[in-house]
Amino acid sequence: MDEAASGARMEIRVVLASSNAGKLREYREMAAGSAIELELMPQFKDLPPFEESATTFAEIGAGKALHYSRFTDEIVLADDSGLAVPILGGAPGVRSARYAGPNATDATNNQTLLRELAGREGEERSARFVCVTALARRGRALAVVSDFAEGSILSKPRGSGGFGYDPVFYSSTLGCTFAEAAPGEKNRHSHRGKAFAKVIDFLTR
Ligand code: IMP
Repeated sequence: MDEAASGARMEIRVVLASSNAGKLREYREMAAGSAIELELMPQFKDLPPFEESATTFAEIGAGKALHYSRFTDEIVLADDSGLAVPILGGAPGVRSARYAGPNATDATNNQTLLRELAGREGEERSARFVCVTALARRGRALAVVSDFAEGSILSKPRGSGGFGYDPVFYSSTLGCTFAEAAPGEKNRHSHRGKAFAKVIDFLTR
C-alpha cells in the first residue's frame, strides 16, 4: 500500500550540522506538526571541522551544509546567522558569536555592541538579524534560503528569554525585545524561524 492509500505520513529525516542540543530543541519546536524529523548529526564533534573563514552568512551556511553532507547519507541542514547593524558597516555580522573577542560571552558581546552604538539615536540604531539555512545531501546543495528580522538596538537590555543579542534587539514586528517575547512568538517572527519555514515548504511540498 502506498503512503496516500495507507493514510500514513512519510517522515523526512534531517540531521543538523551541530552538536548544540539547544539548537536542536529550537528546530524541533519549529518543525512540530510537519513531517520533518530532526536529529543532531552523529559524532559531529569528531568530524573534520568546517573552516568558517568566509565573510558572508551565505557562504558559511551553504559551505557548512555541503561539507558535513559528505560524512552521511542523510539530508544535512546547516545555518549561519547573526546580527547586522548598518551604521557599524554590517558588524557584528559573521563575527556575531565572537564580537567581543575569542572568549566572548553573550554579556560581553552585548556590552561591546552598546559601547559601539553609544551616542547613536533613532534610525542609526536600526539592526537586522539574518539567517541563511542550507540543505545538502552527499556533497550536493538541495536548497539555500535566507530571511531577516528587522528591529533596532535598545540602549539597555530588556527581558530574560532567548540568547545572544535577544535582550537588546527590539523587534519592530513584535513590539518588544526578542528576550521579552512569549514562548513560540520569537520563532514565528525570527530570521531563523522564517528561513526554516521555507525549508519546511521545500521539503514537504
Ligand atoms: P550561529 O549561527 O548559531 O553561529 O549564531 C551566531 C551568533 O549570532 C550567535 O552566537 C548570537 O550571538 C547571534 N545570533 C544569531 N541568532 C540569534 C538570535 O536569534 N538571537 C540572538 N542572537 C543571535
